[in-house]
Amino acid sequence: MNQFRFSRRPDIGDKIRVSFEFFPPKSDEMEARLWETVTRLAPLKPHFVSVTYGAGGSTRERTLKTVRRILNETQLMPAAHLTCVDANREAVDAVIGEFVSMGVTRFVALRGDPSAGVGTAYQPYPGGYANGAELVGALKRVGNHDISVSAYPEKHPESPDFATDIEMLKRKVDNGATRAITQFFFDNDLYERFVERVRRAGIYIPIVPGILPVHNFAQVKNFSSRAGAHVPDWLAERFDGLAKDPQTHALVAAAVAAEQVLDLVERGVNDFHFYTMNRADLAFAICHMIGIRGDLAEKNTTSAAA
Ligand code: FAD
Repeated sequence: MNQFRFSRRPDIGDKIRVSFEFFPPKSDEMEARLWETVTRLAPLKPHFVSVTYGAGGSTRERTLKTVRRILNETQLMPAAHLTCVDANREAVDAVIGEFVSMGVTRFVALRGDPSAGVGTAYQPYPGGYANGAELVGALKRVGNHDISVSAYPEKHPESPDFATDIEMLKRKVDNGATRAITQFFFDNDLYERFVERVRRAGIYIPIVPGILPVHNFAQVKNFSSRAGAHVPDWLAERFDGLAKDPQTHALVAAAVAAEQVLDLVERGVNDFHFYTMNRADLAFAICHMIGIRGDLAEKNTTSAAA
């Protein structure tokens, strides 16, 4: 059982790093929720927090505003996502310039989904960056930035095979990517096999697992195949009948994510990226279980010593 193996290693939290992903809020209400989430997760001292960027620049202003606020009002290190969709190089370079001038040094560089919708053929924008690798090159040309890119343990849905995907990852690394963050997945064996393939291809950057705490199973099931992630039968079984029982759903979600993360820790993984969906509770609980206490630990130590 994971918990018994885990309880013999109480120091494990010192070795683990986490990052949290947020999306830019659309309304005042959503903004208030995001900042509650940021405030709750900040004491865990994440390695960085990232803010997504809508395809075609649809969230440009909101992403810029959110990153600016993180820089101005917190001690957190923001990473700005960027995509290549529906924008020429000048437009993308202008956004990069805005981020750089506000002091951003970390980026998550992505191609983005086709503007005609997931499942349609991707058409690079005329005069634009054609894919994630070209965008990494553009970012690297303007500074020695820390650049994360995407990786797909179950392969990208548009890819004919793993070799094509890994070749693209290699191009991103050759252009200066320093870390890959995976699409979410639920089967750790798939992640492990993917990392083996990547290493065999001579790619040695960290492949950080992207963990999606399941806040709403129906939604996850809905978008998982489009995202290139499959929902195993055992997972569907766990959430079966819980659509109208949010309390039990949340407890099961915490258990499922903790089980996945603890198993990855056992497999030697030390870095985790959480797709928070701008909600703190599940991410916070899972971090607590893997020993990430941040300021909380300091407070506990201080009060014990007093
Ligand atoms: P790329 O890595 O450039 O390409 C994906 C795959 O398509 C490649 O692996 C390759 O197999 C194939 N391919 C691409 N170009 C070529 C080519 N010229 N020739 C042959 N094959 C090719 N989306 C957003 O809109 N905003 C975000 O903020 C965002 N954040 C994300 C963060 C993470 C960690 C991840 C995993 C995904 C994120 N996405 C985001 C989703 C992402 O935009 C989609 O998955 C998109 O379909 C692919 O973008 P990419 O950067 O992975 O593409």
